[in-house]
Amino acid sequence: MMSAKRDYYEILGVSQQADGGELKKAFRSLARKYHPDKSDAEDAEERFKEIQEAYAILSDSEKRQVYDRYGHQGLSGGGGGGFQGFHMNFEDIFSGDLNDIFSSFFGGGQRRRNSRGSDVLVRHNIPFSAIVEGTSEELELNLLDDCQTCDGTGALDPTKNKHCTVCGGRGSVTVRQQVGPFMVNQSTQHCPECSGRGSIIDKPCRNCRGEGRETRNQKIRFDIPVGAESGTRLRMRGHGEPAPRGGGDSGDLIIQLEVQAHPWFERDGADLIMSLPVGFPALALGARISLAHIDGKELLIDIPKGSSAGQTIEIRGRGLAHRRGQRGSVVVLLKLHMPKKFDKKTKKALEELGHTLSIGAEDVEQSVRDEAEYRRGNG
Ligand SMILES: [Zn+2]
Ligand SMILES: [Zn+2]
Repeated sequence: MMSAKRDYYEILGVSQQADGGELKKAFRSLARKYHPDKSDAEDAEERFKEIQEAYAILSDSEKRQVYDRYGHQGLSGGGGGGFQGFHMNFEDIFSGDLNDIFSSFFGGGQRRRNSRGSDVLVRHNIPFSAIVEGTSEELELNLLDDCQTCDGTGALDPTKNKHCTVCGGRGSVTVRQQVGPFMVNQSTQHCPECSGRGSIIDKPCRNCRGEGRETRNQKIRFDIPVGAESGTRLRMRGHGEPAPRGGGDSGDLIIQLEVQAHPWFERDGADLIMSLPVGFPALALGARISLAHIDGKELLIDIPKGSSAGQTIEIRGRGLAHRRGQRGSVVVLLKLHMPKKFDKKTKKALEELGHTLSIGAEDVEQSVRDEAEYRRGNG
C-alpha cells in the first residue's frame, strides 16, 4: 500500500520557482479535475489528498523552505502518510480565499471563526460481506469528551470562579491594530486572560487539569449502507471533540469505511466482475459451473458451447444492491486455463485433436502463407 512519496512540485506540475499565483492556478485546475464529488477516477480521493497536501506545504513559505532543503523527511511526520486530507466543498476551490481555507484547517490559531470542536476522522475496515445487505456495527473509540468530574467547566468548584476583569465577563476582547497611517483594524478575539470563559478558575479540576475535557472510551453504533464503497464517509454529528471549555458545538466524528477486497470479485459500481479460468473442453462443448455466492445462494454460470477466451457472460440481478433496490450484474470473463505441462497421454490426445480441428502448428503456417499470397494477389 505504501508507495514512495511524490515530489510536491511534480504533483502540482509547477517549477521550483513557481510563485503563489502559479501554485494557486495549478491547485485549482487539478482540484477541479480530481474533486471526489466530481471525478469518476478511481483514485480521485487519493489524488485530491495529494494535491491538497502539496499545496498546503508549498503555499506556506516556511514549510516550503524546509521542504526545499530537506525534502519530505524534513516535514513533521518524517514524510510518512500523516496527511489525511480534509473536506473541501467544490465551490470553495474557486470562490473562497484558498489561503484562508488552508490556514484555518492547519491550525491557524486565532483565525478560527468559532470555537466549534474539531472533527475526528477514523478509518474503519469492514469485510466485503458487510456491504452485501448492510449491517449495524459498533466501534469502541477513545475520544475526547467533556470531563465528567467537572462537567466540562475545568474548575474544581465552579462556584468559586472569579469574574474576569480583563474582559468584564464577556469572554471576548476588542483588539485595535494600526495597519497603516490612517487605517485601524478592529477585531474581536477570545479573551486571553480567561480563554473566553468570562471567569477565572480558582482551582483547576484535578481530573482534567482545567482543560474541561478528558479522553473516554466510547461506544459508537452506526449502520453500514448497502453497497458502500471504500472511502465512504459516515458523519456522526456531535461525536467529535467537544469545543474547548464549553465553547461552541462539538465537532463531528467521521468514519471512513475501507471495504476489504473480495477474493475473486472486483467491483464496478453495483456490478461484480470476475475472471473464470476454464479448460478448452469447457469452452468448446459448453459447461455449467456452480459457485457459492455472496447472497448465500448458488451462482450458476452457464458457458455456451463454442465460447472463446475473453468473452463475458452477464448474470443479471446477482450483483450488489443499488441504492434504489435493484441489483447489479455478475460479469464473468472467460479465460483459457492452460496447464504448464502435459503428461504423454494428454500430449498425444492434443496432437490428434490438433489434426482433426486443423489447429496444429504446421496448419497455422500454411494458413498464414495463404493469407499473405491472397493479399499480394489483390494488392
Ligand atoms: Zn475536569
Ligand atoms: Zn476574560
